[in-house]
Amino acid sequence: MASTETSSAAEVTSAISEPLCPHCKGAGYYMLDVPYGHADFGQLITCRCRAAEKNQSRRHKLLEMSNLGPFQQKTFDNFDAGIPGVARAYARARRFSEHPAGWLILFGGYGCGKTHLAAAIANEVLKNNFVTVLFTIVPDLLDHRAQYLRPQAARSIT
Ligand SMILES: [Zn+2]
Repeated sequence: MASTETSSAAEVTSAISEPLCPHCKGAGYYMLDVPYGHADFGQLITCRCRAAEKNQSRRHKLLEMSNLGPFQQKTFDNFDAGIPGVARAYARARRFSEHPAGWLILFGGYGCGKTHLAAAIANEVLKNNFVTVLFTIVPDLLDHRAQYLRPQAARSIT
């Protein structure tokens, strides 16, 4: 019991004595020491410590919007490229994730890894490019598309 209390006290002390960011002293923003008339005079600049938090927050929001939740662990690293017949698809999917333009159609039998590769592409693009990604299945995508292609009157009735 006594040792638990000691370690708790040590953790609290450690958290309190954590050094502040040397650039902004914990404020998250700073101003440059520039003369009046300079373009940056009086401008708050986001500190790199705050920028990292913002990037993390943005990445989290992009992940939420992507619909990748249950598939976010599907990556190229944990894909079994040794499954017969998928080596070419794996290579193409990897290349596509590096330059995602146009379309890449994956086809094959049940359980050959199409969904895993598609999720791996989406995860890779999301991780590296910091862009909006939407992971969905074709029927849902077509429903979504049809909903926005209907005339305005039809939409208001439904
Ligand atoms: Zn800082």
